[in-house]
Amino acid sequence: MRQYLDVKARYPDAIVFFRLGDFYEMFYEDATYVARALDLTLTTRDKGKEDPVPMCGVPHHAVRGYVAKLTELGHRVALCEQLEDPRIARGIVKRDVVRVVTPGVNLDEESLDPRAPSFVAAVAGDPRRGYGLAFLDVSTGDFRATEASTADALIDEIARADPREIVLPRTGPATSPDDVGARGEEVRALGALLRRAYPRLPQTDAPAGEAAPEALLREALGAAFDPGLAERAPMAAAAAGRALAYARATQPGAALAVPRLEVFQRADYLVLDEQARAHLELLESLQDRRRTGSLIEVLDETRSAMGSRLLRRWLLFPLCDLRAIRRRQDAVESLVGAQGARDRARRALAEIADLERLVGRARLGVATPRDLAVLGRSLGLLPELGAALGEARAAQIGGTDEGPADPLRLGDDLGADLGAEIVRTLRPDAPAVPKDGGYVNPGVSAELDEVCAIASGGRERLTAIEARERARTGIPSLKVKFNNVFGYYIEVTRAHLGSVPADYTRKQTVANAERFVTSELTEFERQILGADERRLALELEIFTRLREAVAAAAERLLGIAARVAAVDTLAALAEVAHRNGYCRPVVDDSGIIDITDGRHPVVERLAAAGQFVPNDVRLDPDGDQIWIVTGPNMAGKSTLIRQVALSVVMAQMGGFVPARTARIGVCDRVFTRVGAGDNLARGESTFLVEMRETAHILRYASARSLVVLDEIGRGTSTYDGVSIAWAVAEHLHDRVRAKTLFATHYHELCALGDLHPRVRNVSVTAREWKGEVVFLRKLSPGGASRSFGIEVAKLAGLPPALIERARAILRTLEADGAARPAGAPHPVAPAQADGSAAQLGLFGSALREPLEPSDGVAEVIAALRAVDPDQLSPRAALDLVAELTRKLTPSG
Ligand code: ADP
Repeated sequence: MRQYLDVKARYPDAIVFFRLGDFYEMFYEDATYVARALDLTLTTRDKGKEDPVPMCGVPHHAVRGYVAKLTELGHRVALCEQLEDPRIARGIVKRDVVRVVTPGVNLDEESLDPRAPSFVAAVAGDPRRGYGLAFLDVSTGDFRATEASTADALIDEIARADPREIVLPRTGPATSPDDVGARGEEVRALGALLRRAYPRLPQTDAPAGEAAPEALLREALGAAFDPGLAERAPMAAAAAGRALAYARATQPGAALAVPRLEVFQRADYLVLDEQARAHLELLESLQDRRRTGSLIEVLDETRSAMGSRLLRRWLLFPLCDLRAIRRRQDAVESLVGAQGARDRARRALAEIADLERLVGRARLGVATPRDLAVLGRSLGLLPELGAALGEARAAQIGGTDEGPADPLRLGDDLGADLGAEIVRTLRPDAPAVPKDGGYVNPGVSAELDEVCAIASGGRERLTAIEARERARTGIPSLKVKFNNVFGYYIEVTRAHLGSVPADYTRKQTVANAERFVTSELTEFERQILGADERRLALELEIFTRLREAVAAAAERLLGIAARVAAVDTLAALAEVAHRNGYCRPVVDDSGIIDITDGRHPVVERLAAAGQFVPNDVRLDPDGDQIWIVTGPNMAGKSTLIRQVALSVVMAQMGGFVPARTARIGVCDRVFTRVGAGDNLARGESTFLVEMRETAHILRYASARSLVVLDEIGRGTSTYDGVSIAWAVAEHLHDRVRAKTLFATHYHELCALGDLHPRVRNVSVTAREWKGEVVFLRKLSPGGASRSFGIEVAKLAGLPPALIERARAILRTLEADGAARPAGAPHPVAPAQADGSAAQLGLFGSALREPLEPSDGVAEVIAALRAVDPDQLSPRAALDLVAELTRKLTPSG
């Protein structure tokens, strides 16, 4: 127990799994908690004593599942193993923690999603100096860091990395002069901020006594260490050091090294904040948060896990650099053009295993013989992949050969030497468990071959002994057998006991037979067992050496893996472009977005073939900067505005876009504010969230941004809503000058087009045909003429009587409105008969003249605010209308 307590004292924040024989045991609070959480039987140790110790255990072969469940619950598990063979150890078996499994640091391939990275993130910094963020995927060595000047930006970047766990600075006094950001108050504030933004993300305090980040990075990165980093990006360096320190502490047995640290700037990539990622459904659909219905589902035609992860990264980090974008486009174009070569490359890619994670496991000393055999086989496939790519390059028409920078070149080093060495050493069907041997090829080691010969020769000798003894004794059923208790023995059935010779020594009596040993058998056994033990030791030694060789070549292999992943991703983009008829966009610095026959990549796939109606969109910061898109519900407004944003993302990834032609001026950010997306989980009102997101957009958007606004202002009363939407549009027009697509059912907003030079009205049309609404989905110039709300209500299945009643009310209202002089107020904005620019409805007069609450307007607004429309009978509504009108008519 003392040994256990020592270990526990060193890992107080982890649940300690303490290996005792075939079980992992937990004690004290760990045991009570885990028994409850995982539904295990709680027992006690030292039952007789006064203070029995609570304890529970799990069988060692099933440990993986239990650990996975605990990490999913946000816990850390320290695996404490027996470091010596209990059969030969004297006294207490040596035990120590070999690995800590945490939500973010996990190497168990079964609990890792092959298509997503598994990051542990670390932050540093404070509001005054800005923040640093680093994320590290221990399974692949992917290690990146960046800085963010505001907490908003930090939160966005964390969301983009989507870590499994986050390490915060330790609160309390700084433990070293370099311990950046460890100031109590601010750390607590940061922790609270993150908890609010990511309630389910496990937060962990940085390990106590962190070393200076610089020293840590220098040691772990070796030659890849950048001495200028701490100067240039101190917060990024601090966060990187923290992530590394944390990850290292989980692998006490291995000196965790990382191949490189990539420090990036937010401005290098198209900024997609959390809203944009969610609203554009890049990784998952809004509706059920699943991959189905997301952009990545359409794009992910990668064939390898590495490619799948890289595609996801490209999608979340689209580029801003024109040259880099065009380089990817060139490669995609070549692959689109060379279908045969592309198919050949993709066939090879499908056979290539997850090199990154295999190398990661080798580096940490947990790769199995099977892992290495798979690695060897995969390396062997690279020449075929290279040849396919050569074919694609050859088919390239007029393309410039970029030499080694060409992403379609795998390079000269394909790890062939290492691959050959692995294939030579290990059997192709090598097992996952190293200790049982049976995986080293003959011819690798002369000594191994010799002991194998003894061991197998032994088997032959055994058969010989059996045959000889049968002949000698005349007992046909005599058998030579083996068991763990007394090794090799001869078994003779009861009926033949009389024929047993005198030199047999009786050992045991069983139901129908007796068992004997002979001196010959005992000697034989000694030889065999010796040979077998030696064989296992030799195999393990050869395997370990091979694993070390792979680990030593990690950097090289990861470089190869990165090129393979890039090829896979490019081939996927090409495949998707080819299948769906996308075009290569012209990407430039013009700031213009000009798309002809653009489509929505996801909606078009869900629509029946040929049913998706393409549309043209042209946004120009100096021309049509803002598009006000009106049209009835369900007309396709949201689809249209999102498809533009998606095309920008796809173009800046380097891919093709769903359109006939497209010109995409590189954007710095894409913002979205879509629907009444409520964030009930965070307990905020829909409207408050909407306004917060809108404020965020107005604050951070620039003239190079694309802003997509859908139905803003809807979360409040109509008048508030129109006013806010109006003001937001004006602000974007006059100050921000961002390209904007603004979908709304407030026809009043069409009047903006008359008042502001860079606002253009378009509408998605619908027709009424025999009392039914028919959606044409086609854009036409000008605002929508009517809303078709009632037809949509009918479509949705509201009772016919109700629909009739609504029609009647609408007719009354329309007649009422028509009788009024132009510009006079209209009380029911969404049902307004004519939203054209000539008739401004309520806001016409108010907005043409500067907003001055004269003529009882304020009074009317106040009266309306006090009304709950849901509680109003049609009769009462009409009375109210009459009364309000009276208030506003000057003479009345
Ligand atoms: P709105 O925002 O105007 O209410 P949506 O954009 O949500 O309408 O579109 C409603 C539905 O119409 C979508 O789910 C889609 O199935 C279909 N749709 C939208 N645009 C098109 C189009 N261009 N071609 C074919 N179907 C479309």
